[in-house]
Amino acid sequence: MDDSFAHVMAPYDFGSVKVRNRIVMGAMHTRLETLDRPGQRLAAFYGARARGEVGLILTGGVSPNAEGRMEDGAPMLSNEAELEYHRGIVAAAHDEGTAIVMQILHAGRYAKHSQCVAPSSIKAPINSMVPQALSTEGVWRTVSDFAKTATLAKAAGYDGVEIMGSEGYLINEFTAPRTNRRIDKFGGSLEGRTRLPVAIVAAVRKAVGSAFLIVYRISAIDLVDDGMTGPEVAILARMVEGVGADLINTGIGWHESVVPTIGAIVPRGAWSFAVVNVKNAVRVPVIASNRINTPEVAECLIAAGVADFVSMARPLLADPDFARKVRMGRADEINSCVACNQACLDRIFSESTATCLVNPRAGRELEPAAPAVTRGKNIAVVGAGPAGLAFSVTAAERGHRVTLYDSAPAIGGQLRMARVVPGKNEFEETIRYFNSQLNRMGVTVRLGHRAGNAELAGEDFDHIVLATGVIPRRLDIPGANHAKVLSYVDVFAGRRLVGQTVAIIGAGGIGFDMAAYLLAHPGEAEVVDSFLRTWGVDDTLTSAGGLRAAPTRAHLRKIVMLQRKPEKLGRTLGKTTGWILKAKLRRADVTMLSGVAYQEISDAGLHYRDADGEPKTLVCDNVIVCAGQESERELYADLQTGRVPVHLIGGAESAAELDAVRAIESATRLALSL
Ligand code: NAP
Ligand code: SF4
Repeated sequence: MDDSFAHVMAPYDFGSVKVRNRIVMGAMHTRLETLDRPGQRLAAFYGARARGEVGLILTGGVSPNAEGRMEDGAPMLSNEAELEYHRGIVAAAHDEGTAIVMQILHAGRYAKHSQCVAPSSIKAPINSMVPQALSTEGVWRTVSDFAKTATLAKAAGYDGVEIMGSEGYLINEFTAPRTNRRIDKFGGSLEGRTRLPVAIVAAVRKAVGSAFLIVYRISAIDLVDDGMTGPEVAILARMVEGVGADLINTGIGWHESVVPTIGAIVPRGAWSFAVVNVKNAVRVPVIASNRINTPEVAECLIAAGVADFVSMARPLLADPDFARKVRMGRADEINSCVACNQACLDRIFSESTATCLVNPRAGRELEPAAPAVTRGKNIAVVGAGPAGLAFSVTAAERGHRVTLYDSAPAIGGQLRMARVVPGKNEFEETIRYFNSQLNRMGVTVRLGHRAGNAELAGEDFDHIVLATGVIPRRLDIPGANHAKVLSYVDVFAGRRLVGQTVAIIGAGGIGFDMAAYLLAHPGEAEVVDSFLRTWGVDDTLTSAGGLRAAPTRAHLRKIVMLQRKPEKLGRTLGKTTGWILKAKLRRADVTMLSGVAYQEISDAGLHYRDADGEPKTLVCDNVIVCAGQESERELYADLQTGRVPVHLIGGAESAAELDAVRAIESATRLALSL
């Protein structure tokens, strides 16, 4: 075993359960239960992570009663008839030597159905349902329901339960004055507000006996007004430890917080200060969570005594073999989560099921993996962007002989461009992963080489795959070639200097990324202090909810973004990350104009008609064109006349609404079919 990860690979003995390393798969709602064969799908999903040697799995939340379900049809465990479904999931983990704990989650006022309940009848800003306040009897019934569900989880064979007390769900709503205005013994003072979690942990311990793990997930920092203070969180941690919790997991922020907690914009390990507050309060082990996506960060947190375990949910979606690769000294082969949320949380919040941008096989574990071919074919791939890379690696894994061409001196394509955008530097990890896989799979890589028609036709290829990507769309108005006009490609590549006043034409993902790039203070993306200050986080934990006023900063540039559609800008941004970008740009006083008609670009600036048809001139140093893309298919027509089948993937296949999720997914599908 590689000693560099000695702390993270150390086993832990809870008495009733032995855990082989300190990597915990954090609870994640996948919505796989909404598909056919839900039990089999979830068993295969967790089984794959257990085979990858994760130490402990915390399942996605299971409700203790109908009121607590996230939505109609969400998982619930309240009677013995449901045990069989869970036994398959437990067996899948145990068969591979991994302990598994079922999370009990009562959604409280986040529930998206009419039975939604809460400590007080106060609507959540992110849910249209107005909750009904639980009666005192209703609270005690909820306590009993948690205990009953824990007993059933034990009968199903789970090694323990996690009581979900963070993220703004029911228990967290009781602990914070923000949502708890009760006048009975479950409200008011700290003792009253913490009575519910303490009663639940005590009742569960009584019901399950001693040889069964109880994990309590505490909200280490609420990140909402009128949340708990750090000292109150420490007191609650000690209280739940006192009544039977074996392990404290930490949650960061509520779902309604206006501070990013898991987006890529959050520096790795940023929440350590809040975890340390819990760790210092208790004797039982503590789990750190949020923005831990590499073994180096995990090792660092445990070695430094910040926590005893690290929780990773999305990183194990991205690479189920994360822990095994660390144990085998193959950490450079880990397919790292880039914290984009594009294929996991954005899909879950769109009522679809989770998969992963960098690992399209996630959530599809019942489908055959990458069956080896009986006779390997000779395949040329042109373009080493996300689609070309995903195709090459999967095809080579199956036994094909792959030659990958790119005219650039390095692999990555659009990923190389994206990595300079604040919050997208994690794509560096994806490039590192593909480099290691190309090497491992024996793909022949020809960089700095523009493969021409004659060369491709002359070689003995059985298939040619064109992953040549996209070219930026050019403007078609007078002055489109004016010296002020810059393409986003040149700006991101650092080839052109940009002035102080800027008009951005086009407000899709790249227009927004461009604005964020032009406003970034050098180096701020990686610095925890700067992130916490910018977003108004109180790292002394003295204020309620851990918030303080964010300082105002001088803006680096004056930016105006424009689009022709008469709708609000930013509608196509990610569901769970778009708000972060929009909040950043709002704070930097970026002007957003919709419904415009572009007229001309001149020495004076950009001439356009506004939404009322009035002619206007935007005086600016530069106009940056982020007006979408067209497919790059220069080679396609010529090659098609030959005898070798030619395939288009990624942006070369279709530029409309292209993103890396679709590029990688479609490339992988083609590689599995040849
Ligand atoms: P896009 O999302 O299609 O946006 C193109 C923008 O250009 C639109 O705002 C469009 O608005 C404008 N436009 C289109 N044709 C134009 C023309 N002829 N003249 C002037 N303006 C024109 O494309 P993108 O921003 O280049 O992004 C490319 C892909 O990468 C997208 O699919 C995007 O989802 C993805 N991406 C996603 C993210 C993310 O946040 N998840 C980040 C970066 C990229 P009007 O037509 O209304 O003017
Ligand atoms: Fe991570 Fe993005 Fe994959 Fe989600 S989709 S697991 S955030 S890489």
